[in-house]
Amino acid sequence: MKQITILGATGSIGASSLDLISQHPSEYSIFAVTANTNVKKMLSICLQYQPHYAVMSDKVSAQQLKVLLNSSLTQVIDGPQGLLEVASHDDVDIVIAAIVGSVGLMPTLAAVRSAKRVLLANKESLVMMGGLFMHEVAQYKAQLIPVDSEHNAIFQCLPEDYASNQTVKGITKILLTGSGGPFRELPLNEFDAVTPQRAITHPNWSMGPKISVDSATMMNKGLELIEACWLFDMDEKNVEIVLHKQSIIHSMVAYNDGSVLAQLGNPDMRTPIANALAWPDRISSGVEPLDLIQISQLNFEAADEQRFPCLKLARDAFKQGGTSMAILNAANEVAVASFLNEEIKFTDIPKLIDNTLQNISSNLASNLDIILEDDRRARQFASQQSKIFGQRVTH
Ligand code: NAD
Ligand code: MG
Repeated sequence: MKQITILGATGSIGASSLDLISQHPSEYSIFAVTANTNVKKMLSICLQYQPHYAVMSDKVSAQQLKVLLNSSLTQVIDGPQGLLEVASHDDVDIVIAAIVGSVGLMPTLAAVRSAKRVLLANKESLVMMGGLFMHEVAQYKAQLIPVDSEHNAIFQCLPEDYASNQTVKGITKILLTGSGGPFRELPLNEFDAVTPQRAITHPNWSMGPKISVDSATMMNKGLELIEACWLFDMDEKNVEIVLHKQSIIHSMVAYNDGSVLAQLGNPDMRTPIANALAWPDRISSGVEPLDLIQISQLNFEAADEQRFPCLKLARDAFKQGGTSMAILNAANEVAVASFLNEEIKFTDIPKLIDNTLQNISSNLASNLDIILEDDRRARQFASQQSKIFGQRVTH
Protein backbone atom coordinates (compact mmCIF):
# COMPACT_ATOMS: atom_id res chain seq x y z
CA MET A 1 0.00 0.00 0.00
CA LYS A 2 1.51 3.34 -1.07
CA GLN A 3 1.01 6.29 1.28
CA ILE A 4 0.34 9.62 -0.38
CA THR A 5 0.54 13.25 0.67
CA ILE A 6 -1.43 15.69 -1.48
CA LEU A 7 -0.13 19.24 -1.18
CA GLY A 8 -3.05 21.40 -2.35
CA ALA A 9 -5.79 18.78 -1.94
CA THR A 10 -8.68 21.26 -2.24
CA GLY A 11 -7.66 22.48 -5.70
CA SER A 12 -8.39 21.23 -9.18
CA ILE A 13 -5.38 18.87 -9.36
CA GLY A 14 -6.13 17.83 -5.77
CA ALA A 15 -9.68 16.84 -6.76
CA SER A 16 -8.50 14.82 -9.78
CA SER A 17 -5.90 13.07 -7.61
CA LEU A 18 -8.42 12.19 -4.89
CA ASP A 19 -10.86 10.85 -7.48
CA LEU A 20 -8.16 8.64 -8.97
CA ILE A 21 -6.90 7.38 -5.61
CA SER A 22 -10.43 6.47 -4.52
CA GLN A 23 -10.65 4.22 -7.61
CA HIS A 24 -7.70 2.16 -6.32
CA PRO A 25 -8.25 1.73 -2.56
CA SER A 26 -6.15 -1.40 -2.25
CA GLU A 27 -3.05 0.24 -3.78
CA TYR A 28 -3.06 3.81 -2.48
CA SER A 29 -4.01 5.45 0.75
CA ILE A 30 -4.06 9.12 1.74
CA PHE A 31 -1.53 9.92 4.43
CA ALA A 32 -1.93 13.71 4.49
CA VAL A 33 -3.82 16.50 2.74
CA THR A 34 -3.14 20.22 2.81
CA ALA A 35 -5.15 23.34 1.96
CA ASN A 36 -4.96 27.09 2.26
CA THR A 37 -8.12 28.21 4.13
CA ASN A 38 -11.04 26.29 2.63
CA VAL A 39 -12.24 24.58 5.83
CA LYS A 40 -15.50 23.31 4.35
CA LYS A 41 -13.87 21.46 1.48
CA MET A 42 -11.11 20.14 3.72
CA LEU A 43 -13.71 18.84 6.18
CA SER A 44 -15.45 16.80 3.51
CA ILE A 45 -12.09 15.44 2.23
CA CYS A 46 -11.07 14.43 5.77
CA LEU A 47 -14.42 12.74 6.44
CA GLN A 48 -14.15 10.74 3.22
CA TYR A 49 -10.43 9.80 3.26
CA GLN A 50 -9.54 9.88 6.97
CA PRO A 51 -5.90 10.98 6.46
CA HIS A 52 -3.41 10.89 9.33
CA TYR A 53 -2.74 14.62 8.90
CA ALA A 54 -4.59 17.66 7.59
CA VAL A 55 -2.61 20.87 7.21
CA MET A 56 -4.24 24.32 7.00
CA SER A 57 -2.34 27.55 6.19
CA ASP A 58 -3.24 29.39 9.38
CA LYS A 59 -4.17 28.69 12.99
CA VAL A 60 -7.74 30.02 12.66
CA SER A 61 -8.66 27.65 9.80
CA ALA A 62 -6.89 24.77 11.55
CA GLN A 63 -8.84 25.39 14.76
CA GLN A 64 -12.14 25.55 12.85
CA LEU A 65 -11.36 22.29 11.07
CA LYS A 66 -10.36 20.62 14.35
CA VAL A 67 -13.67 21.53 15.99
CA LEU A 68 -15.83 20.51 13.02
CA LEU A 69 -13.93 17.28 12.40
CA ASN A 70 -13.84 16.25 16.06
CA SER A 71 -11.88 13.10 15.19
CA SER A 72 -8.89 11.34 16.66
CA LEU A 73 -8.06 9.76 13.29
CA THR A 74 -6.82 12.98 11.71
CA GLN A 75 -4.33 15.29 13.34
CA VAL A 76 -4.86 18.90 12.24
CA ILE A 77 -1.73 21.04 12.02
CA ASP A 78 -0.95 24.42 10.43
CA GLY A 79 1.55 26.70 8.75
CA PRO A 80 4.61 26.28 6.52
CA GLN A 81 6.22 23.90 9.05
CA GLY A 82 3.19 21.64 8.81
CA LEU A 83 3.57 21.49 5.03
CA LEU A 84 7.24 20.52 5.34
CA GLU A 85 6.39 17.84 7.88
CA VAL A 86 3.84 16.02 5.73
CA ALA A 87 5.94 16.40 2.57
CA SER A 88 8.95 14.73 4.17
CA HIS A 89 7.37 12.28 6.68
CA ASP A 90 9.06 8.87 6.78
CA ASP A 91 5.81 7.00 6.21
CA VAL A 92 5.10 8.81 2.92
CA ASP A 93 5.97 7.21 -0.44
CA ILE A 94 4.44 9.66 -2.91
CA VAL A 95 3.97 13.44 -2.72
CA ILE A 96 1.62 15.15 -5.17
CA ALA A 97 2.88 18.74 -5.44
CA ALA A 98 -0.31 20.61 -6.37
CA ILE A 99 -0.15 23.87 -4.43
CA VAL A 100 -0.43 26.80 -6.81
CA GLY A 101 2.43 29.32 -7.11
CA SER A 102 5.67 29.95 -5.28
CA VAL A 103 4.20 28.88 -1.89
CA GLY A 104 4.53 25.37 -3.29
CA LEU A 105 8.30 25.60 -3.61
CA MET A 106 9.52 24.78 -0.09
CA PRO A 107 7.24 21.77 0.56
CA THR A 108 7.98 20.39 -2.92
CA LEU A 109 11.68 20.77 -2.22
CA ALA A 110 11.24 19.05 1.15
CA ALA A 111 9.69 16.06 -0.66
CA VAL A 112 12.64 15.99 -3.09
CA ARG A 113 15.14 16.16 -0.23
CA SER A 114 13.37 13.23 1.44
CA ALA A 115 13.81 11.14 -1.74
CA LYS A 116 10.09 10.71 -2.37
CA ARG A 117 8.40 9.99 -5.66
CA VAL A 118 7.29 13.56 -6.44
CA LEU A 119 4.40 14.08 -8.82
CA LEU A 120 5.04 17.62 -9.98
CA ALA A 121 2.06 19.81 -10.88
CA ASN A 122 3.51 22.95 -9.26
CA LYS A 123 5.45 24.18 -12.32
CA GLU A 124 6.33 27.41 -10.52
CA SER A 125 8.97 25.52 -8.43
CA LEU A 126 10.87 24.54 -11.54
CA VAL A 127 10.52 27.98 -13.10
CA MET A 128 11.91 29.63 -9.96
CA MET A 129 14.87 27.38 -9.34
CA GLY A 130 15.06 24.86 -12.20
CA GLY A 131 18.82 24.24 -12.23
CA LEU A 132 19.16 23.88 -8.48
CA PHE A 133 15.94 21.90 -8.25
CA MET A 134 17.11 19.31 -10.80
CA HIS A 135 20.45 19.16 -9.05
CA GLU A 136 18.71 18.31 -5.76
CA VAL A 137 16.53 15.69 -7.44
CA ALA A 138 19.72 13.92 -8.57
CA GLN A 139 21.58 14.48 -5.30
CA TYR A 140 18.79 13.09 -3.10
CA LYS A 141 17.78 10.39 -5.63
CA ALA A 142 14.18 11.55 -5.65
CA GLN A 143 11.89 10.36 -8.44
CA LEU A 144 10.47 13.40 -10.18
CA ILE A 145 7.54 12.62 -12.48
CA PRO A 146 5.80 15.46 -14.28
CA VAL A 147 2.03 15.74 -13.98
CA ASP A 148 1.61 18.84 -16.14
CA SER A 149 -0.14 17.19 -19.11
CA GLU A 150 2.41 18.36 -21.72
CA HIS A 151 5.41 17.28 -19.67
CA ASN A 152 3.84 14.00 -18.77
CA ALA A 153 3.20 13.46 -22.50
CA ILE A 154 6.86 14.20 -23.27
CA PHE A 155 7.91 11.89 -20.42
CA GLN A 156 5.80 9.14 -22.02
CA CYS A 157 7.34 9.76 -25.46
CA LEU A 158 10.91 9.42 -24.15
CA PRO A 159 12.66 6.06 -23.71
CA GLU A 160 11.83 4.36 -20.41
CA ASP A 161 15.34 4.72 -19.00
CA TYR A 162 15.31 8.47 -19.63
CA ALA A 163 14.52 9.18 -15.96
CA SER A 164 17.68 7.40 -14.78
CA ASN A 165 19.87 8.16 -17.77
CA GLN A 166 19.30 11.60 -19.21
CA THR A 167 21.86 11.15 -21.95
CA VAL A 168 19.55 9.58 -24.48
CA LYS A 169 20.70 10.47 -27.97
CA GLY A 170 18.73 11.33 -31.07
CA ILE A 171 16.16 13.76 -29.70
CA THR A 172 16.03 16.77 -32.00
CA LYS A 173 13.07 18.70 -30.71
CA ILE A 174 10.24 18.88 -28.23
CA LEU A 175 6.92 20.00 -29.67
CA LEU A 176 5.04 21.60 -26.79
CA THR A 177 1.37 21.83 -27.65
CA GLY A 178 -1.11 24.35 -26.28
CA SER A 179 -4.75 25.06 -27.00
CA GLY A 180 -4.16 28.81 -27.27
CA GLY A 181 -6.63 29.38 -24.44
CA PRO A 182 -9.92 31.26 -24.66
CA PHE A 183 -8.48 34.18 -26.68
CA ARG A 184 -6.79 32.36 -29.53
CA GLU A 185 -8.99 34.17 -32.02
CA LEU A 186 -10.14 37.25 -30.08
CA PRO A 187 -9.67 40.46 -32.13
CA LEU A 188 -6.60 42.28 -30.76
CA ASN A 189 -8.58 45.45 -29.97
CA GLU A 190 -10.82 43.51 -27.56
CA PHE A 191 -8.01 42.33 -25.25
CA ASP A 192 -8.14 45.53 -23.17
CA ALA A 193 -11.70 44.84 -22.05
CA VAL A 194 -11.24 41.18 -21.05
CA THR A 195 -12.77 40.53 -17.61
CA PRO A 196 -11.50 38.01 -15.04
CA GLN A 197 -14.66 35.96 -15.50
CA ARG A 198 -13.99 35.64 -19.22
CA ALA A 199 -10.31 34.89 -18.74
CA ILE A 200 -10.90 31.99 -16.35
CA THR A 201 -13.32 30.22 -18.69
CA HIS A 202 -11.06 27.79 -20.56
CA PRO A 203 -12.46 26.00 -23.61
CA ASN A 204 -10.93 22.54 -22.90
CA TRP A 205 -9.68 22.28 -19.32
CA SER A 206 -11.19 22.99 -15.91
CA MET A 207 -8.45 24.46 -13.70
CA GLY A 208 -7.77 26.79 -10.77
CA PRO A 209 -8.07 30.57 -11.37
CA LYS A 210 -4.33 31.38 -11.52
CA ILE A 211 -3.41 28.80 -14.16
CA SER A 212 -6.60 29.70 -16.08
CA VAL A 213 -5.46 33.32 -16.38
CA ASP A 214 -1.97 32.05 -17.28
CA SER A 215 -3.58 30.02 -20.07
CA ALA A 216 -5.46 33.08 -21.33
CA THR A 217 -2.25 35.19 -21.49
CA MET A 218 -0.32 32.08 -22.61
CA MET A 219 2.17 32.73 -19.82
CA ASN A 220 1.23 29.16 -18.90
CA LYS A 221 2.89 27.95 -22.11
CA GLY A 222 5.87 30.21 -21.39
CA LEU A 223 6.25 28.73 -17.90
CA GLU A 224 5.86 25.27 -19.45
CA LEU A 225 8.61 26.01 -21.96
CA ILE A 226 10.95 26.77 -19.04
CA GLU A 227 9.65 23.71 -17.17
CA ALA A 228 10.37 21.49 -20.21
CA CYS A 229 13.91 22.84 -20.62
CA TRP A 230 14.79 22.02 -17.00
CA LEU A 231 12.99 18.69 -16.80
CA PHE A 232 14.40 17.27 -20.01
CA ASP A 233 17.70 19.16 -20.17
CA MET A 234 16.82 20.91 -23.43
CA ASP A 235 17.80 24.25 -24.87
CA GLU A 236 14.88 26.63 -25.53
CA LYS A 237 15.83 26.64 -29.23
CA ASN A 238 14.81 22.99 -29.39
CA VAL A 239 11.39 23.52 -27.85
CA GLU A 240 8.75 24.60 -30.33
CA ILE A 241 5.33 25.77 -29.23
CA VAL A 242 2.55 24.45 -31.44
CA LEU A 243 -1.05 25.61 -31.10
CA HIS A 244 -3.44 22.70 -31.21
CA LYS A 245 -6.94 23.83 -30.36
CA GLN A 246 -8.49 20.42 -29.66
CA SER A 247 -6.07 19.55 -26.76
CA ILE A 248 -5.98 15.90 -27.83
CA ILE A 249 -2.24 15.62 -28.51
CA HIS A 250 -0.61 16.67 -25.24
CA SER A 251 2.92 17.12 -26.70
CA MET A 252 5.44 15.36 -28.91
CA VAL A 253 9.10 14.40 -29.15
CA ALA A 254 10.92 14.48 -32.51
CA TYR A 255 13.89 12.16 -33.15
CA ASN A 256 16.71 12.44 -35.69
CA ASP A 257 15.44 9.56 -37.82
CA GLY A 258 12.31 11.57 -38.64
CA SER A 259 10.06 9.88 -36.07
CA VAL A 260 7.75 12.06 -34.04
CA LEU A 261 6.16 10.40 -31.00
CA ALA A 262 3.01 11.90 -29.53
CA GLN A 263 0.80 11.13 -26.54
CA LEU A 264 -2.93 11.52 -27.11
CA GLY A 265 -5.97 11.41 -24.88
CA ASN A 266 -9.04 13.30 -23.81
CA PRO A 267 -8.16 16.46 -21.87
CA ASP A 268 -8.55 15.13 -18.32
CA MET A 269 -5.78 15.50 -15.72
CA ARG A 270 -6.55 12.06 -14.29
CA THR A 271 -4.57 10.55 -17.21
CA PRO A 272 -1.20 12.20 -16.45
CA ILE A 273 -1.73 11.79 -12.70
CA ALA A 274 -2.48 8.06 -13.17
CA ASN A 275 0.61 7.67 -15.33
CA ALA A 276 2.81 9.39 -12.76
CA LEU A 277 1.31 7.49 -9.80
CA ALA A 278 1.69 4.03 -11.28
CA TRP A 279 4.76 4.48 -13.51
CA PRO A 280 6.19 2.25 -14.94
CA ASP A 281 2.90 0.34 -14.57
CA ARG A 282 -0.48 1.53 -15.81
CA ILE A 283 -3.72 1.90 -13.85
CA SER A 284 -7.24 2.76 -15.00
CA SER A 285 -8.23 6.39 -14.52
CA GLY A 286 -11.92 6.66 -15.34
CA VAL A 287 -11.14 8.94 -18.30
CA GLU A 288 -13.43 8.54 -21.32
CA PRO A 289 -11.71 6.52 -24.07
CA LEU A 290 -10.55 8.64 -26.98
CA ASP A 291 -12.84 8.53 -30.02
CA LEU A 292 -10.77 9.85 -32.92
CA ILE A 293 -13.51 9.28 -35.48
CA GLN A 294 -15.79 11.54 -33.50
CA ILE A 295 -13.05 14.17 -33.05
CA SER A 296 -12.28 13.78 -36.77
CA GLN A 297 -9.81 16.69 -37.01
CA LEU A 298 -6.59 17.70 -35.30
CA ASN A 299 -5.39 21.21 -36.20
CA PHE A 300 -2.03 22.86 -35.71
CA GLU A 301 -0.78 26.42 -36.07
CA ALA A 302 2.10 28.63 -34.98
CA ALA A 303 1.89 30.60 -31.74
CA ASP A 304 1.64 34.38 -32.27
CA GLU A 305 3.98 36.33 -29.96
CA GLN A 306 2.30 39.64 -30.80
CA ARG A 307 -1.02 38.33 -29.58
CA PHE A 308 0.64 36.65 -26.60
CA PRO A 309 3.67 38.74 -25.50
CA CYS A 310 4.08 36.55 -22.39
CA LEU A 311 5.51 33.80 -24.60
CA LYS A 312 8.46 35.97 -25.58
CA LEU A 313 8.94 37.25 -22.03
CA ALA A 314 9.26 33.68 -20.76
CA ARG A 315 11.57 32.54 -23.56
CA ASP A 316 13.78 35.60 -23.04
CA ALA A 317 13.90 35.00 -19.27
CA PHE A 318 15.15 31.48 -19.89
CA LYS A 319 17.78 32.78 -22.32
CA GLN A 320 18.84 35.41 -19.81
CA GLY A 321 19.20 32.70 -17.15
CA GLY A 322 20.00 33.11 -13.46
CA THR A 323 17.20 34.51 -11.32
CA SER A 324 15.39 36.06 -14.33
CA MET A 325 12.92 33.21 -14.33
CA ALA A 326 12.16 33.67 -10.62
CA ILE A 327 11.64 37.39 -11.32
CA LEU A 328 9.33 36.59 -14.24
CA ASN A 329 7.36 34.15 -12.09
CA ALA A 330 7.03 36.55 -9.16
CA ALA A 331 5.89 39.44 -11.37
CA ASN A 332 3.40 37.16 -13.09
CA GLU A 333 1.93 35.98 -9.76
CA VAL A 334 1.49 39.59 -8.62
CA ALA A 335 0.02 40.67 -11.99
CA VAL A 336 -2.44 37.77 -12.15
CA ALA A 337 -3.63 38.39 -8.57
CA SER A 338 -4.10 42.11 -9.34
CA PHE A 339 -6.02 41.29 -12.51
CA LEU A 340 -8.27 38.81 -10.67
CA ASN A 341 -8.93 41.56 -8.07
CA GLU A 342 -9.88 43.88 -10.94
CA GLU A 343 -7.04 46.28 -10.10
CA ILE A 344 -5.32 46.11 -13.49
CA LYS A 345 -6.38 45.30 -17.04
CA PHE A 346 -5.71 42.02 -18.82
CA THR A 347 -3.28 43.78 -21.18
CA ASP A 348 -1.40 45.22 -18.19
CA ILE A 349 -0.24 41.73 -17.19
CA PRO A 350 2.60 41.44 -19.78
CA LYS A 351 3.49 45.13 -19.36
CA LEU A 352 3.84 44.75 -15.61
CA ILE A 353 6.01 41.64 -16.00
CA ASP A 354 8.16 43.34 -18.64
CA ASN A 355 8.65 46.43 -16.44
CA THR A 356 9.66 44.23 -13.52
CA LEU A 357 12.18 42.32 -15.63
CA GLN A 358 13.62 45.62 -16.92
CA ASN A 359 13.96 47.13 -13.44
CA ILE A 360 14.97 44.27 -11.18
CA SER A 361 18.48 43.08 -11.92
CA SER A 362 18.92 39.33 -12.06
CA ASN A 363 21.71 37.37 -10.40
CA LEU A 364 23.35 34.00 -10.77
CA ALA A 365 20.92 31.50 -9.27
CA SER A 366 23.67 29.92 -7.21
CA ASN A 367 21.68 29.26 -4.05
CA LEU A 368 18.15 29.30 -2.74
CA ASP A 369 18.63 32.47 -0.64
CA ILE A 370 19.58 34.49 -3.73
CA ILE A 371 16.54 33.18 -5.61
CA LEU A 372 14.16 33.95 -2.73
CA GLU A 373 15.64 37.44 -2.33
CA ASP A 374 15.14 38.22 -6.04
CA ASP A 375 11.62 36.77 -5.84
CA ARG A 376 10.95 39.20 -2.95
CA ARG A 377 12.44 42.21 -4.78
CA ALA A 378 10.41 41.40 -7.89
CA ARG A 379 7.18 41.06 -5.90
CA GLN A 380 7.76 44.37 -4.17
CA PHE A 381 8.41 46.18 -7.47
CA ALA A 382 5.51 44.47 -9.26
CA SER A 383 3.10 45.39 -6.43
CA GLN A 384 4.10 49.06 -6.72
CA GLN A 385 3.66 48.88 -10.49
CA SER A 386 0.27 47.29 -10.07
CA LYS A 387 -0.84 50.24 -7.89
CA ILE A 388 0.40 52.70 -10.53
CA PHE A 389 -1.38 50.78 -13.32
CA GLY A 390 -4.48 50.53 -11.10
CA GLN A 391 -4.76 54.31 -10.62
CA ARG A 392 -4.79 54.63 -14.38
CA VAL A 393 -7.67 52.13 -14.64
CA THR A 394 -9.90 53.91 -12.08
CA HIS A 395 -9.37 57.47 -13.40
P1 NAD B 1 -6.14 25.51 -7.57
O1 NAD B 1 -6.18 26.97 -7.37
O2 NAD B 1 -7.38 24.81 -8.00
O3 NAD B 1 -5.63 24.82 -6.23
C1 NAD B 1 -4.51 25.28 -5.54
C2 NAD B 1 -4.29 24.53 -4.24
O4 NAD B 1 -3.22 25.21 -3.55
C3 NAD B 1 -5.49 24.55 -3.30
O5 NAD B 1 -5.57 23.32 -2.60
C4 NAD B 1 -5.15 25.67 -2.32
O6 NAD B 1 -5.74 25.49 -1.03
C5 NAD B 1 -3.64 25.57 -2.24
N1 NAD B 1 -3.05 26.85 -1.86
C6 NAD B 1 -3.24 28.04 -2.49
N2 NAD B 1 -2.57 29.02 -1.84
C7 NAD B 1 -1.96 28.43 -0.78
C8 NAD B 1 -1.16 28.94 0.28
N3 NAD B 1 -0.86 30.24 0.40
N4 NAD B 1 -0.71 28.05 1.20
C9 NAD B 1 -1.02 26.73 1.11
N5 NAD B 1 -1.79 26.21 0.13
C10 NAD B 1 -2.25 27.05 -0.80
O7 NAD B 1 -4.95 25.23 -8.59
P2 NAD B 1 -4.77 23.98 -9.60
O8 NAD B 1 -5.41 24.29 -10.88
O9 NAD B 1 -5.09 22.71 -8.90
O10 NAD B 1 -3.20 24.05 -9.87
C11 NAD B 1 -2.26 23.63 -8.90
C12 NAD B 1 -0.86 23.59 -9.54
O11 NAD B 1 -0.89 22.63 -10.57
C13 NAD B 1 -0.45 24.90 -10.18
O12 NAD B 1 0.93 25.09 -9.99
C14 NAD B 1 -0.76 24.70 -11.64
O13 NAD B 1 0.09 25.45 -12.50
C15 NAD B 1 -0.49 23.22 -11.80
N6 NAD B 1 -1.25 22.58 -12.89
C16 NAD B 1 -2.59 22.55 -12.86
C17 NAD B 1 -3.30 21.95 -13.90
C18 NAD B 1 -4.80 21.85 -13.88
O14 NAD B 1 -5.37 21.23 -14.78
N7 NAD B 1 -5.49 22.41 -12.91
C19 NAD B 1 -2.60 21.41 -14.97
C20 NAD B 1 -1.21 21.46 -14.97
C21 NAD B 1 -0.53 22.04 -13.91
MG1 MG C 1 -0.01 22.09 -18.92
